[in-house]
Amino acid sequence: MQEYSIAVLPGDGIGPEVIKQANKIIKILESKLEIKLNLNEFPVGGAGYEATGHPLPDKTMEGAKKADAVLLGAVGGPKWEKIDFSLRPERALLGLRSNLGLFANLRPAKVFDALVDASTLKREVVENLDILVVRELTGGIYFGKPRGVETLEDGSRKGFNTLVYTEAEIKRIAKVAFEVAQKRQGRVVSVDKANVLECTGLWREVVTEFAKDYSDVTLEHMYVDNCAMQLVRNPKQFDVILTTNMFGDILSDEASMLTGSIGMLPSASVGGEGGMFEPIHGSAPDIAGKDWANPLATILSVGMMFKYSFDLEKANGWLESSVESVLKDGFRTRDIMSEEGKEVGTEQMGDLVAAKLEELC
Ligand code: NAD
Repeated sequence: MQEYSIAVLPGDGIGPEVIKQANKIIKILESKLEIKLNLNEFPVGGAGYEATGHPLPDKTMEGAKKADAVLLGAVGGPKWEKIDFSLRPERALLGLRSNLGLFANLRPAKVFDALVDASTLKREVVENLDILVVRELTGGIYFGKPRGVETLEDGSRKGFNTLVYTEAEIKRIAKVAFEVAQKRQGRVVSVDKANVLECTGLWREVVTEFAKDYSDVTLEHMYVDNCAMQLVRNPKQFDVILTTNMFGDILSDEASMLTGSIGMLPSASVGGEGGMFEPIHGSAPDIAGKDWANPLATILSVGMMFKYSFDLEKANGWLESSVESVLKDGFRTRDIMSEEGKEVGTEQMGDLVAAKLEELC
């Protein structure tokens, strides 16, 4: 029997609440797919800090390294806002990504039929939207050196950061985007600022050369300012968007909002050892403990884990259909509530998707 291990990191705020729902789903998939899943839970973020004095305890990092995949809830909260920057819960995310070598962040922005009207854009613009942003995650201007703030001779200050990409870094993220595109509609738009930044001029050259090995994928280049505009003008023109760390940070948030609610969007960080899967939202301290959190982003992150880490794409399909079907039946958590919707809490939404999944697969 095929066996996989998952490090489960619930974290803080609504993290444990949404992870509890994801665990219900994992149990069903384990039995339907006749595989064995070993789940080990570890504290992270504020919970890690409370347990050991560090947001990413050694045992948590070791557990994440040993596992085939990491499932994370969310970290952070007002309780830890005043502690030293190096010990803040959010630092755990950077530690996990870099120690696991997760250089590619995949963020799908998919509009479920039943939620088309939850978007701030017109129905015809977002209906059937299904795009994927592939963002480079461990390089670029967020990591380049030199960086800092210096005081000049006249006493005024100068701040600076450096945009750096090696050919090897560009090729490895391009490989992820092209391979993912082969399993989708086969279209990649590579986003840069090659007209102004030499580094992204190199990005464009390397991606163009790289694309020659993928005759089944079409490549187009776009400047980032144009891409930001096209995403709201006509988002359906995109299939896969391949871009740098900073541009991806901004564009993926823009793309995610096309779909209506932050509580709906999953993400995957892959490329190195295993992969890390998490909802894009934070720990939502304002609604923690109230049974109000939407667990669907975390449940859909489980689907991405089965697809990308275990190569069990059908599980992702089952989950997307189950979520779509529960939404079609009118069930809504508060964040996606509509006039005719039937309001349910976190637990009940988890149970509804679990029941649909049992029925569908
Ligand atoms: P947030 O995503 O936690 O919340 C923003 C708003 O969206 C809030 O009104 C919240 O109630 C709502 N929301 C978020 N997720 C929801 C869900 N699943 N269902 C329903 N409503 C939901 O962002 P924030 O308020 O800026 O940050 C809160 C804390 O989370 C901070 O400490 C921040 O640093 C941290 N954070 C963590 C991550 C992460 O763990 N990956 C990401 C972003 C922010």
